[in-house]
Amino acid sequence: MKTTFFCKVINNPFNDPLLFVRFRRQGYAFIFDLGDFSALSVREVQKIVNVFVTHMHIDHFIGFDSLIRCLLGRETPVTIYGPEGIIEAVESKLKGFTWNLIKEYPLKVEVCELTQTEALKASFYAQEGFCRIDRPSLPRKVEILSYDGLSVQASSFDHGIPVLGYSLSEDFHINVNKALLDERGFSVGPWLNTLKAAIRSGDSAQEFVLNDRVYTLDELLCLVIITRGQKVSYITDISPIQGNIDKAIALAAGADALYIEAFFLEGDRDRAAKRNHLTTTLAGHIGRQAGVKVIEVVHVSPKYINAYSEVIGEVLAAFGGGGEKGKEEEERGGSASLSLQDAPGPL
Ligand SMILES: [Zn+2]
Ligand SMILES: [Zn+2]
Repeated sequence: MKTTFFCKVINNPFNDPLLFVRFRRQGYAFIFDLGDFSALSVREVQKIVNVFVTHMHIDHFIGFDSLIRCLLGRETPVTIYGPEGIIEAVESKLKGFTWNLIKEYPLKVEVCELTQTEALKASFYAQEGFCRIDRPSLPRKVEILSYDGLSVQASSFDHGIPVLGYSLSEDFHINVNKALLDERGFSVGPWLNTLKAAIRSGDSAQEFVLNDRVYTLDELLCLVIITRGQKVSYITDISPIQGNIDKAIALAAGADALYIEAFFLEGDRDRAAKRNHLTTTLAGHIGRQAGVKVIEVVHVSPKYINAYSEVIGEVLAAFGGGGEKGKEEEERGGSASLSLQDAPGPL
């Protein structure tokens, strides 16, 4: 069964995190965190329409310049979601460049700052020299975006500063029963996308002309199989405190994949508390309690660059998993450790 979207962890877990999510049908992409962009192709970056920033520590926001550089000539706007301070952070970044020659460029940057109570909004348009334009704010909701049968939920966490964790959910998944399609003599075509759109919007008045006959939506429902939608969660840089852990379990509940930090080994839990990060065991515990299918570690302290298998071992021991995914993780970390620069520890 074809998935609606697929996720690609762009960097090894010792580098600046970035999760790229590409939507097969729509062609666009979302990203979680603005870490190191260098491994993304220009083609991939140009598909990005929504950016979900956890917080503005340098390892999670350093890719902002690369994003803007790559999108300057694009007509489609980009929206950046982030925690308290994101509007000022974007404004400050944009003020760091001289924009006298870009007035003909079409790029529009929309920013949505999610505080405990409000969704503050601001726009920055190339044709206005990226001057800040404040927009009316809205009340803060858990669901921060919803369209095309997709939704994104954001929860606030404590990391010494406010941090956002995110879940991306598909409302339900529609697959065409190809065998039945053939049996009924219907050919594959754009009408199938119209059919899926009508199912999603509940537009029962929609009609379809197939093989010189008019069909109602109800008559064609037998051609599709509707199943539970995909869900992925992205949670990183949160203090190892009960309030955060409870919220992380709720946010990731039932996810197909949880992308999470495991910044410190369990033996370094005092340091984890001081630095406001999760330990390996807590990451695994969250995944287990949330009932996720797969757990993937996206952010690990560079001090463990030669102990990655130990990190993954502790996560999987707490998660109660292992198997193929665990082996893949170990392999990923093993090869990653060869290409690392001597970067300062993420914040
Ligand atoms: Zn970090
Ligand atoms: Zn941080």
